[in-house]
Amino acid sequence: MNSTEIIASFRVYCGNDKFSRFLSKFQRESRTVYKLWHWQAELVDAFVAQSEAVLSAHEVVEALSDGKEFMFACPTPTCEYIVTCLDRATSQWFCGECGVGWETTAALFTAIQEITARYPYRRQCYIINQDTIEPAPRSQYAPDYSELVRTEWDDARDPN
Ligand SMILES: [Zn+2]
Repeated sequence: MNSTEIIASFRVYCGNDKFSRFLSKFQRESRTVYKLWHWQAELVDAFVAQSEAVLSAHEVVEALSDGKEFMFACPTPTCEYIVTCLDRATSQWFCGECGVGWETTAALFTAIQEITARYPYRRQCYIINQDTIEPAPRSQYAPDYSELVRTEWDDARDPN
């Protein structure tokens, strides 16, 4: 199995909601280092155990972490989680935490541009190039990112 097949198979195994939640809870410590929560490791092990292909848990995690496009900070106000790509072929995006989805990558990028214009501390979550946007590693996020995003509830409650 190549990594695309592994990802597709794992997605079917999990279902969209759990798959998206799994990816959004990936702890991205740097561009290349990922850490799994206990429940995630268990899920990977269970997937490997039932898979007919000969796979190791390490291979599955490698496949899932392959592709920085999985790892955008969610651009929904008050949400500090991660937007994941449900299907690379259709470029459909979803945040398992706030439940907001984007039908295209262009729509996601528009949302990122809007939120970073509104809340400048969110710019550190992205590398914004001329034609495209890349996710920045967690280490580049504002150190008090969670608290900053939480303050967005003030605007959400009182839009004026
Ligand atoms: Zn979200």
